[in-house]
Amino acid sequence: MLDELRAEVLDANLELVRRGLVIYTFGNASGVSWKHGMIVIKPSGVPYERMTPADMVVADLQGNVVEGKLRPSTDLPTHAALYRAFPSIGGVVHTHSRHATAWAQAGREIPCLGTTHADYFHGPVPATEPLTAPEIEGDYEANAGVAIVRRMEGLDPLACPACLIAGHAPFCWGKSVTEAAHNAVIVEELAAMAWITLSINPGCQPISRALRDKHHFRKHGPTATYGQK
Ligand SMILES: [Zn+2]
Repeated sequence: MLDELRAEVLDANLELVRRGLVIYTFGNASGVSWKHGMIVIKPSGVPYERMTPADMVVADLQGNVVEGKLRPSTDLPTHAALYRAFPSIGGVVHTHSRHATAWAQAGREIPCLGTTHADYFHGPVPATEPLTAPEIEGDYEANAGVAIVRRMEGLDPLACPACLIAGHAPFCWGKSVTEAAHNAVIVEELAAMAWITLSINPGCQPISRALRDKHHFRKHGPTATYGQK
């Protein structure tokens, strides 16, 4: 089932390795088939170099495994919570990439300090509140998804394609799993740039609304002019 999506999900997982975002078996990418109501996700703890499309695990939107010999990534409930909340997305990626994770550990949102950032995010990369003890001791992975959804309230997930979990790391998404992996690479780059910018000038402020809107809406929405028709 879902052979094309299995191949795309595997490739997105491998892209995270190629771009230096994950070490060992950290990180996970998934894609959704809205037509089938199914999620395809990386298996848990299998070395990337040995993974094949057949190793990908298929689960329903509640996170119940439907097909696959291997156990799914332990973060499947977080992915499932994001799909249930954001019907406009098609893929989710989680990494512990160094700079983005450092911002998450600091419990700080990444401010929009330049146009590279505004090209992808119409505002800061948000960060959740720390999870409470009952949230951690209860259905932890699902509650991580709930914390993201709570923080994203009022935001368009495609205009803000990532959120940092305080004390943990980023979750990123996109219209497809390929786009979600791309956004994870971008978030890591934005995190590194913001860190360096604030090291050079700790008082640096976010760019103006005019500059942010110009760059964001050049690439996104009905007035976009970026790229080829
Ligand atoms: Zn994690």
